[in-house]
Amino acid sequence: GPTALLSGGNHGDEYEGITALLKLANRLQPEEMRGRVIIVPMLNHPAVLNGTRTSPLDGGNLNRAFPGHPAGTLTEKIADYLTRYLVPLCDLALDIHSGGRTLDLLPFAATHRMSDRGFEARCLAAATAFG
Ligand SMILES: [Zn+2]
Repeated sequence: GPTALLSGGNHGDEYEGITALLKLANRLQPEEMRGRVIIVPMLNHPAVLNGTRTSPLDGGNLNRAFPGHPAGTLTEKIADYLTRYLVPLCDLALDIHSGGRTLDLLPFAATHRMSDRGFEARCLAAATAFG
């Protein structure tokens, strides 16, 4: 079956995605699944431990560090790992954000314009299914 990459904690002060993904990881039953789910609940672990939007180690905003760099800062290395190793494994990637300490967001789902129109259409369908 397909592979889904589910991530949270891109910004370290956005606990909703982290909490939801930790709960999901404990509830999934492999015998009830088809395919593979890769869950990374705390993408920017230093920022999560610090309770801040950006990394306390290098000041990096992970969401602005893509595609990353293998010899860059820690934040750039995390982005590079996602870009070169995890994302190519998946048919679907969902990165959960919320407002953190500074923003109050209404629930929404979004995707990006992509050069691969088929992939873009699948992403739009997933965002629409999210409600
Ligand atoms: Zn965020």
